[in-house]
Amino acid sequence: MSARCFVALGANLGNPAAAVSSAIAALRRLPDSEFLAASSLYQTAPVGLKHQPDFINAVVELIAVPPAPTFLDMLFAIEADFGRRRSVRNAPRTLDLDLLLYGDEIRDDPRLTLPHPRLHERAFVLAPLAEIAPDLVIPGRGPVSALLAACAGQQIEKLVAQTAG
Ligand code: ADP
Ligand code: MG
Repeated sequence: MSARCFVALGANLGNPAAAVSSAIAALRRLPDSEFLAASSLYQTAPVGLKHQPDFINAVVELIAVPPAPTFLDMLFAIEADFGRRRSVRNAPRTLDLDLLLYGDEIRDDPRLTLPHPRLHERAFVLAPLAEIAPDLVIPGRGPVSALLAACAGQQIEKLVAQTAG
């Protein structure tokens, strides 16, 4: 079994662009998966908890063979390698990896909810996602292009000079 997956990357501590770029490189090297595409890097103001550095975000597309919960554990292992300390939600972090989609799997489990529960309302996820998969439809939510259009008020800047891995 395998599934087309999208993973969101975010960082806002230290050198976040370097952290996201090397996390993309780590995702390329994941066993039992085939790397398909990486978006550009995007810079966004923090959501929720203000007064912290801007975030760098990106999205990658890959084919994953392990089942979704195993694949999420592999993502958590990469987060741990980047020295992430879990504290409060939306807190500053060296690296956050979210599993946005695992094929068209729908799960409602607090440890792993699919599609990711906040993906449809975040421009910093939708913009890089639309860049690499413009025709994608989010199960239960609709076309990524329409979801992004509904987030037009959210500030996000594409970093054209950076290459994302
Ligand atoms: P956030 O990404 O919302 O800022 P965290 O990265 O700390 O917060 O994740 C909080 C919890 O969300 C984790 O314990 C994780 O198990 C859970 N979670 C549920 N669904 C997903 C998903 N699709 N991708 C990543 N984590 C998820
Ligand atoms: Mg997360």
